[in-house]
Amino acid sequence: MEAIRSIAIPPLTPDLERVLIDADTIQRRVTELANQINNDYANITEPLILVGVLKGSFIYLADLCRKLTVPHVVDFIAVSSYGKGSETTGNVRLLMDTRENMENHHVLIVEDILDTGYTLDYLVRNFIARGTKSVNTTVLLEKPDRHKVHVDLKYVGFTIPDVWVVGFGLDYGEQYRTLPYIAEMKIPKKK
Ligand code: 5GP
Ligand code: MG
Repeated sequence: MEAIRSIAIPPLTPDLERVLIDADTIQRRVTELANQINNDYANITEPLILVGVLKGSFIYLADLCRKLTVPHVVDFIAVSSYGKGSETTGNVRLLMDTRENMENHHVLIVEDILDTGYTLDYLVRNFIARGTKSVNTTVLLEKPDRHKVHVDLKYVGFTIPDVWVVGFGLDYGEQYRTLPYIAEMKIPKKK
């Protein structure tokens, strides 16, 4: 895993504190993770189902899947882990289900970031209950200081501190998703 680099960014984006992970570093890491996945699933007999968790994972998923040489299909799921207030409750709600029938398939859940772990914990349990052959997880980012439940993470891009990050799919109020790097917001926001 590469060390996190900190780069000063020009003042055209005053809400951002600093770039945590630059675009080249992300691409190199995504290639490494894709290579691991290609090795691990080299012998599968039916396509691997990649399930991107909307919306934050869409850019990571797009880059990752284009580096896969193992047979795969792309699917999506949407969940919400927010209760009535702004604190994460662990009360995960399914907003949109997958199209694929996962029974007897290998599934790889693709997430942007593991924070408390409630979202991935819910999804892993839910997918196992569907009679899948296997369920693994990949996250681009994880915040170890924030975990509330244990989730087995198979492929992790980067470990980051407890700050609110945006870019490469991650948003703040639906903004910043299409930045090519991961940046820290100036005012750290807790869910
Ligand atoms: P968990 O269930 O692990 O607490 O929630 C993970 C979800 O919280 C992520 O999929 C993401 O949507 C959101 N999240 C957690 N930390 C951040 C962050 O620093 N930035 C952004 N944009 N979203 C985050
Ligand atoms: Mg998410």
